[in-house]
Amino acid sequence: VETVCREATDIPEHKPAIIATGPLTTEQLAEAIRGLTGSEHLYYYDATSPIVSADSIDYDKVFFASRYGKGAPDFLNCPMSEEEYFRFVDALLAAPRVVLREFEEPRFFEGCLPIEEMAARGPLTLAHGPLKPVGLVDPRSGRRPFAVVQLRREDVGGQAYELVGFQTRLVWSAQREVFRLIPGLENAEFLRFGAMHRNTYICSPRFLDRTQQFRGRPGLFFAGQITGVEGYIESAASGLLAGVAAAHLIRGAGYVPPPPTTAHGALMRYIAESDPSRFQPSNIHFGLLDPPGDRRLRGRARKEHLARRALDAIRRWRDELAA
Ligand SMILES: Cc1cc2nc3c(=O)[nH]c(=O)nc-3n(C[C@H](O)[C@H](O)[C@H](O)COP(=O)(O)OP(=O)(O)OC[C@H]3O[C@@H](n4cnc5c(N)ncnc54)[C@H](O)[C@@H]3O)c2cc1C
Repeated sequence: VETVCREATDIPEHKPAIIATGPLTTEQLAEAIRGLTGSEHLYYYDATSPIVSADSIDYDKVFFASRYGKGAPDFLNCPMSEEEYFRFVDALLAAPRVVLREFEEPRFFEGCLPIEEMAARGPLTLAHGPLKPVGLVDPRSGRRPFAVVQLRREDVGGQAYELVGFQTRLVWSAQREVFRLIPGLENAEFLRFGAMHRNTYICSPRFLDRTQQFRGRPGLFFAGQITGVEGYIESAASGLLAGVAAAHLIRGAGYVPPPPTTAHGALMRYIAESDPSRFQPSNIHFGLLDPPGDRRLRGRARKEHLARRALDAIRRWRDELAA
């Protein structure tokens, strides 16, 4: 094994190769990757909204509907009275935010402002922006609410919902406290918190398959945070899988990625098969795994079931791969 410690400035010619240069990939290599993906599919910043688990939402307070009844009613709507709205805005403005690191100077785009920045522009900015109630009638009151927080179904199984337009720099504890003021989310379990930070990543669902190989470029792998996984464990898992897949390629052996009942497999499915037009980096969370066969399982029992099933499946996968 020869280790060469220097900056890579181009896509490696020899294959297999794994590009795992992370959220701060240097500029020349980023330029080369841009040549591969097109500039519109390599991102430098990420803005994610929180995701809550479906079974922690209070369905007595929220309602399914699309604005003006157009299309399938895929959104869950959390209606707010005037009083609830202003209490929420006050809490949002008072909440502590993440302190920026030097390389993270904010360059917000108008279409993607943190929710607290928007709220700071005026007391009614949110009510005319992401919380606008137009085209929505609360079936319980028969009236248009003062404001509405919309939740979009995040996964096919309907296990997780994203708070639409809630990209934020609030610290996690404040997100939990403030967003639980939203009617229906009083006991919300957060599967992912919102974040905004400097992050280089590709629009993986357009380019990578579940083995993390670049489609049409056999032997060229991406791994780690540059694929849109987020966090130490996720990046290590992604790197491990890319390494195993590359080793199989060298040996000419068949490779099947782990199934989506495992955390590893669910992450691979997430980066390879999410809707590319809405792709955002993600940590691993229970909402990414295949739902349990028994839909009645809730809370801790549900998680224990998913964890046991995942461990069984990854052991089977490992044994089959080694056979
Ligand atoms: C301040 C901070 C705190 C964090 N805290 C946490 C935390 O508490 N928990 C958590 O789960 N995650 C945390 N993260 C996120 C975590 O660091 C990343 O998810 C993870 O490190 C990504 O792993 P990676 O291997 O993909 O990239 P990296 O760890 O960034 O590794 C990529 C490496 O490639 C190098 N590189 C870049 N360009 C080139 C090039 N052209 N040629 C050669 N080498 C290159 C980089 O210098 C770097 O050493 C934090 C991140 C930051 C910045």
